Amino acid sequence: MAGAPPLPRPDPLTRPFWEACRRRELVVSRCEACGHAFLPPGPCCPRCWSRRLAWRRASGRGRVWSFAVYRRTYDPALPAPYVVALVELEEGARLVSNLVGCAPEAARVDLPVRVRFDEVGELVLPRFEPAPGEGERP
Ligand SMILES: [Zn+2]
Repeated sequence: MAGAPPLPRPDPLTRPFWEACRRRELVVSRCEACGHAFLPPGPCCPRCWSRRLAWRRASGRGRVWSFAVYRRTYDPALPAPYVVALVELEEGARLVSNLVGCAPEAARVDLPVRVRFDEVGELVLPRFEPAPGEGERP
């Protein structure tokens, strides 16, 4: 690998998310007042402003909500082509990640995906790959 890739920097708000990833668990911030699940975490619910928030384990399953194929290398540690995807989890929260384990040409909106965890530097990153039986179609 050429150099170190740019990585997220955990802070007090996001640290529980990254600690869960280290345990190979995906978690979402959930409002205990209205049930809204969201990422990234914040100090209050973006829907009802409640501060009654809790971390809930997510299934790790979701669908590609949107994506972009990067065909130019902006960082030597991230050689093109690669796919940046906005994944909508079953729980409703959306997060930006990478689609891996399939050709960029196989990326599509609504593609069922599941999380996988990759150790990168100090962090364990959640990335998404096509759910079994998906991504193999022409
Ligand atoms: Zn709420």
